[in-house]
Amino acid sequence: MQLLKEKIIKEGIVLKGEILKVDSFLNHQIDPELMMEIGKEFANRFANKKIDRILTIEASGIAVALTTGLMLNVPVVFAKKGKSELMNDDAYYADVYSFTKKINSKVSVLKKFMPPAQNILIIDDFLAHGEAALGLAEIVHQANSTVAGIGIVIEKQFQGGAAKLIEKGYHLESLARIKAFKECSVILD
Ligand code: 5GP
Repeated sequence: MQLLKEKIIKEGIVLKGEILKVDSFLNHQIDPELMMEIGKEFANRFANKKIDRILTIEASGIAVALTTGLMLNVPVVFAKKGKSELMNDDAYYADVYSFTKKINSKVSVLKKFMPPAQNILIIDDFLAHGEAALGLAEIVHQANSTVAGIGIVIEKQFQGGAAKLIEKGYHLESLARIKAFKECSVILD
């Protein structure tokens, strides 16, 4: 994923609190060509797995989940954040602490979009402490389904999320891994 790595180095902005802003291609403005490349790469990396459906979380996971779903020819579902009248008892819920917003929020997925006994690929834009991915995995388990793998666009290795997911036995694939932030620049693995 050379193109992704080049974009991170060239366009990524390191904010305080060890947050990387990549709003020129992933988190606000979206680069469609790069999203397609990412979808192809995830599809290749999980080619040996049976995948029935993709689960991500709004909003920034949606673009990469969509292109991955297109490549694998499976439906894409995104977990919603916060309360909504549209969600009710017919939903699965998980508590997720937001790394960027520093708040706890409930995420939910309607049960009708998470039928049981499915192999679910979890996709997200960033991996920091692993809260979002673990919340999504929790929803998969509530639905009596299996986590087929977890695909992450940008992993911040130094925040421990990857170790937690691997320890739980999940197959993790990260397309770009950040070793450290040094004087506002990004050091990739
Ligand atoms: P975690 O739950 O693993 O602690 O953090 C992952 C979630 O927080 C992702 O869904 C992502 O939206 C957000 N996040 C974590 N770190 C960053 C970051 O450095 N930059 C951006 N843009 N989002 C991040």
